[in-house]
Amino acid sequence: MAGPGLLLALGERRGLIGHRDADGSLQVHAVLAAPDGWAPGDVRAELLAAFAGWHDGLRSLIAEAGGPLVARGIHTLPAGHRWPRTPGVTLLGDAAHLMAPFACDGANQAMLDGAELAAALVGHPTDPEAALGAYEELLFPRAAATAAEAAAMFAVCFRADAPRGLVDLLTASGQLVTVDA
Ligand SMILES: Cc1cc2nc3c(=O)[nH]c(=O)nc-3n(C[C@H](O)[C@H](O)[C@H](O)COP(=O)(O)OP(=O)(O)OC[C@H]3O[C@@H](n4cnc5c(N)ncnc54)[C@H](O)[C@@H]3O)c2cc1C
Repeated sequence: MAGPGLLLALGERRGLIGHRDADGSLQVHAVLAAPDGWAPGDVRAELLAAFAGWHDGLRSLIAEAGGPLVARGIHTLPAGHRWPRTPGVTLLGDAAHLMAPFACDGANQAMLDGAELAAALVGHPTDPEAALGAYEELLFPRAAATAAEAAAMFAVCFRADAPRGLVDLLTASGQLVTVDA
């Protein structure tokens, strides 16, 4: 069902997202709206109940998954999160801009943070405070834009008419090719 790439099965406030790893294994994330701190005793049973009525092939991704199933919350900082310049300190990566993994960009942003922070320090060799300020001036708008995109994608993927929103987005961008089953 996932082929060599990505599988997205989306519904209102839930979905199954699978991707093929380089070693050939399939990683599957089951996404579910749940109360804060949700900690089921039997994750597999809870998920199978939550995805009752879904296609058997999709449910088998839960039923036949190897390894322990772990419930993890999706936490985010608000898009546009920033802080006052604080001497001697700055943040990068998720610590600076934790976002839902739906722009697929958190690690890319973290690496760019590191590169831009390094460039700022090299550019201000005798003034680290100026370097941190220059870094944050680039960081804040860039992270805000990506975090907003991630939040919007997250909402689109799991809205009431899912997967229509994502299908429309991919169709509009020319990335969706439909084939007859
Ligand atoms: C399901 C999912 C899918 C994702 N998909 C993508 C994707 O396709 N593309 C993409 O670019 N990004 C993706 N991301 C986001 C990406 O994983 C993160 O943005 C990235 O890992 C952030 O890197 P980081 O170094 O800032 O933080 P982390 O990777 O969280 O590293 C922080 C490290 O600090 C350690 N640590 C924490 N507290 C302490 C302490 N007190 N002392 C010592 N060590 C400590 C932690 O153990 C951890 O190893 C995804 C994230 C998730 C959850």
